Amino acid sequence: MATTFDYWPLVMDSLKTHVSGSNYKAWFSRLEFISTSNQGRKIILGVPSLFNKNYIENRYKTELRDAISKYFPQVIHIDFQINTPSDTSTAEAQQEIISNLQERPRLEDREVAEHNDTNNISSYLPKRNINNLNPKYTFENFVIAEHNEMAVNVAKAVIDQPGTLYSPVFLYGGVGLGKTHLMQAIGQRMLELNPSCNIKYITSETFLNQFQIALRKREMEAFKSFYRSIDLLLIDDIQFLAGKESTQTEFFHTFNTLHQLNKQIILTADKAPNEIKGIEERLLSRFSMGMVVDISQPDLESRIAILNDKIERLGLRLTSDQIQRIAMAVDTNVRELEGVLNKIQGKAMFSPSNEFTDNDLDSLLVHYKRSSQISELGTHMNHTEHVIQSVCKFFSLDKKDLVGPSRQQNIALARQILMWFMKNDLGFSYVAIGKMFGGRDHSTVMHATQKIDKLRASNSQVQEHIAVIKELTNQFQPN
Ligand code: ADP
Ligand code: MG
Repeated sequence: MATTFDYWPLVMDSLKTHVSGSNYKAWFSRLEFISTSNQGRKIILGVPSLFNKNYIENRYKTELRDAISKYFPQVIHIDFQINTPSDTSTAEAQQEIISNLQERPRLEDREVAEHNDTNNISSYLPKRNINNLNPKYTFENFVIAEHNEMAVNVAKAVIDQPGTLYSPVFLYGGVGLGKTHLMQAIGQRMLELNPSCNIKYITSETFLNQFQIALRKREMEAFKSFYRSIDLLLIDDIQFLAGKESTQTEFFHTFNTLHQLNKQIILTADKAPNEIKGIEERLLSRFSMGMVVDISQPDLESRIAILNDKIERLGLRLTSDQIQRIAMAVDTNVRELEGVLNKIQGKAMFSPSNEFTDNDLDSLLVHYKRSSQISELGTHMNHTEHVIQSVCKFFSLDKKDLVGPSRQQNIALARQILMWFMKNDLGFSYVAIGKMFGGRDHSTVMHATQKIDKLRASNSQVQEHIAVIKELTNQFQPN
């Protein structure tokens, strides 16, 4: 007779279709069936860590429950068991010993190379103890809010299990949203935990420059061994490698070597891997292999949280009303928020009472508005409204149908398409979209957008819907 155990792979398959590839790999690949009890009403599952359990419970409860009840409708309770050092970790430990053994000659090579480095020419490569981390970018002063919460969770998981859980991590998002800060904070924390960890932070431009110097000086061996001895490699703004083919080739090999050695790699870029132009396909597919996660623009609440934190650190005195006004006016990114606070700090220093008045704020914000940011906000708001109207028009529906609870097929499809536009064209975060759609969970939004992505690839009708809606949206534009 088939047992629950026999059916477990079906549950896993079902989960696979409801959770994106990288998330599945991250959170479910080590989920195991342990046992059932209570006449099958309770199922016990094994997970590798408490963090993993909490993450599944917080983020994927519905998906897990749905997948289980599909095959085991009698299950009422799902329980987790944290797999403390078990067979798998013994196997991993063994693997580590084996690879350490294999690495030994490599280490000697490395020492020779380093010796050469210090003695002669390779001054363009930083010394082993120089990691280029900026001490001001730590977790202590990084405000966690909705727009970066996922990225921070990934960061914590990486610190927990470097090189094994997700490698690489590909962190993307627009300028000034905290990618560099978060990436370096990971480096700082790993260094605290393990001071001998060989960490290097580098922008992709510097990598490119070093590579070119190494080529010119015929020091490719030193260059290679330098990079291949790194435990945590942080490469910032990878989009600058676009069009630089030979550097990409070298990076590809470096990447593969580090990856094989289970070293942790973290990359940042301004766009998702599939949107970056001018970088080899094989490299982009390597980037997507681990965990791809974005930091989106902070919403009002997040901006207020960030302002409050920074105001306290700077010792500024602002009323909550003033803070609210700044957060409403400066909606683009954290760097802009910091810019405004710097101006306030400057102003306060020169006022006799060390005060910043509402009038001061008025003139500061008027200045800020003039500098075109606000008009950009207006454009974005208008554009959002136009997309909503276009979807409504196309499906002959009302806006309230879309945000409402109806599961009627055409309403559901219209809703999913609108969510997809909001994520892909308008750059809203899953959480923000969920809120706009009557408080739906972010995972619902994620499923919707993933479903539309799939349909776009396979269903010509949906492709056409999207094209027509885009067309309708364009008709709103003044020129
Ligand atoms: P990016 O690399 O995405 O362009 P940065 O990491 O350089 O952005 O961030 C821009 C500025 O905003 C930095 O000074 C950084 O310290 C600050 N910053 C960004 N996000 C946060 C945050 N969540 N909490 C505190 N400061 C932040
Ligand atoms: Mg940056």
